[in-house]
Amino acid sequence: MAEVELRNVTKRYGDTVALDNVSMTVPDGAFVVLLGPTGAGKTTTLRMVSGLDQPDDGEVLMNGQLLNGLTPAQRNVTMVFQQYSLYPHLTVYENLAFPLRSPLLKTHEDQIKQTVHRVAETLQISHKLENKATALSGGEMQRVSIGRALVRNPEVYLMDEPLSSLDAKLRADLRVELKSIQADSGATLLYVTHDQIEAMTMATHVGVLDQGKLVQFGAPREIYEDP
Ligand code: ADP
Ligand code: ADP
Repeated sequence: MAEVELRNVTKRYGDTVALDNVSMTVPDGAFVVLLGPTGAGKTTTLRMVSGLDQPDDGEVLMNGQLLNGLTPAQRNVTMVFQQYSLYPHLTVYENLAFPLRSPLLKTHEDQIKQTVHRVAETLQISHKLENKATALSGGEMQRVSIGRALVRNPEVYLMDEPLSSLDAKLRADLRVELKSIQADSGATLLYVTHDQIEAMTMATHVGVLDQGKLVQFGAPREIYEDP
């Protein structure tokens, strides 16, 4: 269960105002797609929620609790990047197990095995578990990247164009998989894309950013019918 809220968030990088007094409430279990031109502040919005960066002004909250000042590890949030962030010399199994091997988690080996197999099945990558990451296709690598977020079972997923480097067929397949994973887990998702089909097919809510301002926020139908 996680509601995410930005309250009057402003973020500057030097003279650039990346986010300008942005307020947004992301309801528990929502799939929010952030749209907008390059430089609009989409990635910065994710960084505010992930804790990779802190706002200059305003508040970021989860379930009403202030996140400002907390590190990424102190937040129940995982980020999936566009770039494959895999360990090339490790197998798919070890790449998926890696986030669970943190000494802080003390996850039992049986539990790790069970989780890795479940996630691999969901992402249809079970047959590649013993392959090195370098031996995978682009689409398979991206599945493993998404899988590394899934194994941690966070309340909030942040995804920055996770499908943009894939061909049309794989994008379509993974759209369906992501949507069903989100529906099944009840997780809250913030998802950055340039792809309007992704927005229309996956979003419960669409936020449109432009020059650091949130110019629209609502159901996909409202956004697209508004000229
Ligand atoms: P988007 O994801 O919508 O393309 P970003 O959130 O990445 O936009 O960036 C918003 C603005 O902030 C852009 O003008 C970008 O150049 C600037 N910006 C983002 N991160 C940094 C940074 N670390 N240093 C300087 N400028 C940055
Ligand atoms: P995307 O195209 O996925 O939105 P960006 O090119 O906006 O990605 O940003 C990629 C990374 O570079 C981010 O970590 C962002 O904070 C950083 N960044 C973006 N613009 C600048 C900039 N002008 N100066 C320094 N870092 C930047």
